Amino acid sequence: MRKLKNVTILGAGTAGWISAYILSDFFFTNKQNVKVTIVDPSSIPIIGVGEGTTGIFYDFLKRYNLDELDFLRETKATLKFGIVHKDWKELNHQYYGPIDDPHLLASKKDPEDFEYLNVYAIAAGRSVADVHLHTKLMETNKVPFNFENNRPDLKSPFFYAYHFDNHLVGNYLRKRSKNIEILDEVYTHASLNENGEIEKLHFESGKEIETDLVLDCTGFRKLLINKLYNVGWKSYQKNLPVNRAMPFFLKLDEKNISNYTLAWAQKNGWMWQIPTQERIGAGYVYCDDFTGPEEAKIEIEKVLGHEIEPRNDIKFTSGRIEKSWVKNCIAIGLASGFLEPLEATSIHSTLIQMILFATDYLKEEMDFNNEKIMDEFNERVGRQFDDFMIFLNTHYVSNREDSDFWKFVKNDCIHEDTINFINKWKNQLPRMSDFDLYLSGLPHVQSQLYYPVLDGLGLLKKDIAREEMNNFNLKPFARDEYKRFNDLYDDQMKSFIRHNDYLEFASL
Ligand SMILES: Cc1cc2nc3c(=O)[nH]c(=O)nc-3n(C[C@H](O)[C@H](O)[C@H](O)COP(=O)(O)OP(=O)(O)OC[C@H]3O[C@@H](n4cnc5c(N)ncnc54)[C@H](O)[C@@H]3O)c2cc1C
Repeated sequence: MRKLKNVTILGAGTAGWISAYILSDFFFTNKQNVKVTIVDPSSIPIIGVGEGTTGIFYDFLKRYNLDELDFLRETKATLKFGIVHKDWKELNHQYYGPIDDPHLLASKKDPEDFEYLNVYAIAAGRSVADVHLHTKLMETNKVPFNFENNRPDLKSPFFYAYHFDNHLVGNYLRKRSKNIEILDEVYTHASLNENGEIEKLHFESGKEIETDLVLDCTGFRKLLINKLYNVGWKSYQKNLPVNRAMPFFLKLDEKNISNYTLAWAQKNGWMWQIPTQERIGAGYVYCDDFTGPEEAKIEIEKVLGHEIEPRNDIKFTSGRIEKSWVKNCIAIGLASGFLEPLEATSIHSTLIQMILFATDYLKEEMDFNNEKIMDEFNERVGRQFDDFMIFLNTHYVSNREDSDFWKFVKNDCIHEDTINFINKWKNQLPRMSDFDLYLSGLPHVQSQLYYPVLDGLGLLKKDIAREEMNNFNLKPFARDEYKRFNDLYDDQMKSFIRHNDYLEFASL
């Protein structure tokens, strides 16, 4: 057993600061006298992309009593209620991917895992997205708040998400982390003890520090986990076809800042557009087997109708390490793996990894030889990546064949598990019980996220939905509930305020 006295976070990107915040809060709240040091070398920039989040960020702010209005003011963030997917199924087609879950509020019916609101929508030839509050918010660019006593009052039980600048989020978390020491040093190497645990970290300046636990937050470099330990690599490249990104900024319509991420499929990949309060962060994620940076730039300029100034040229390899926790070293964030930017799974996974570690595994004294505990953590973290990979892969089940890239995607990229799921759901629509809960109740990709995507891509069958409604004798009930939800949301929408008004209030 090793009593924790010094904990080090190597790297101060979004993953580093999330880790610093959660760890420092844990030690502070539990009155444990543990020194937390974060290594933040001013000479090595953070990756500087990663601006879309999921509902877990909302949960994170609430969980740690962080005030949303302060957060929006300091980070220039905006609210996100989902994703608009454009041209994925075919050209000139779009669908909404709302991130709320109407079934959380729906009355329970037998069988309990049967999602009658979604199934009814499919049976009636309507879009499942229509029964989501968040779709209506995206369509009208509103937020689920009323002004009461001159203050915005939240009227929705659903988690939503944020778009932000990750440099500003780093600063925000830095200010709120308790008793943290920040070191401006460049790591060079580590000393291990006879048990293989990291004892000391050494830096370019000659400085060295002792440590009992290290979080490797060095991004794609994976400086500790990959260099010191044999952690294996699970590649997703075969199924996630994009591998290079060209981020750039677009001008913002300041009077009408949108409350969703735009994911716009292109000839050789897809483009994201993510508004903060100051600009739109955009980027073309593409496959460099089919186009290079110069052609990609020309392609995107043609689509947008004006020139762009690429901020960077980022190559990435989609995949994950097989063990993110070895001995006293845990990889968090990009150091543990990366899929691609679609659906903003990366910061989501980082938060899950850290909240899971802090709630289920972190102790004052830790046994870094307990393989069982580490295997369990690694299994859960790995499975989370694998589940997301299949979810992202499903987005590529498209009718498009208008470029070599899309022909390649159709013929070579769809994973066997994706095909099996789709075939299964062609005969029985997705149920809550199709998804295991293995993250101690933390949010994960389940039917609520799958339904709008499967429906948007036209992968769910109306006749099967009708058959299921009839089998469970739920049609009249579901129809009434569907109408009740729609009427309620339409009514609420009248008093909900504009996204811009909320952001303006936050900036006061
Ligand atoms: C194109 C693209 C788009 C993305 N979009 C999204 C998105 O919309 N949503 C989302 O959730 N995620 C997204 N991501 C992922 C997101 O960028 C990351 O999850 C997030 O930025 C966290 O990165 P990180 O902290 O792990 O790594 P980094 O930001 O790379 O930080 C690494 C840290 O390690 C430090 N470091 C490096 N070398 C040394 C050394 N020798 N000594 C000491 N320190 C060192 C650096 O200084 C830095 O502080 C995207 C990623 C890419 C590539």
